[in-house]
Amino acid sequence: MVRFSIYVKAETENVETLFFNPDEYVWNIMVKCANCKEVYDNWQTLCKSVTKPLRVGRGYVHYSSKCKFCKMENSIIIMEDSMKPYDGNRNDFQPIATFECRGIELIGIRPGGGWIVTTKRNNSTFTDINLDEDYVEYNEEGVLSILDFECQVRRS
Ligand SMILES: [Zn+2]
Repeated sequence: MVRFSIYVKAETENVETLFFNPDEYVWNIMVKCANCKEVYDNWQTLCKSVTKPLRVGRGYVHYSSKCKFCKMENSIIIMEDSMKPYDGNRNDFQPIATFECRGIELIGIRPGGGWIVTTKRNNSTFTDINLDEDYVEYNEEGVLSILDFECQVRRS
């Protein structure tokens, strides 16, 4: 079992925190088989509120698949309490979640939609933001922006 953490970084203006609903956020991930090292063709999705029972033993996982090349089964669990908001007051890579992976490796992530921003000036909230592209919003508080959103996967 190997743990991978997702780190993000962005150039922000008027952003106090950048987060998502931990139960509803849909993760778009790129993976490779830990056994034969084959990279999966498509983005895979998982969500903390969607669980599958383990085929062997007790418990549940958030993702499971069978490698189409070597036929090994693998699974991922989004670790309880690992999801944390990004602090817009800092401009460095910060961990936002950790996945426990069995037989599979996390190699990439795409931010997608469902992000929630809390602003510095009025502490207002903007929801359902898609960070696959730069986000710029002009409102009564001035400008709110999230630029150059970067994601990194690190083995932890
Ligand atoms: Zn494989």
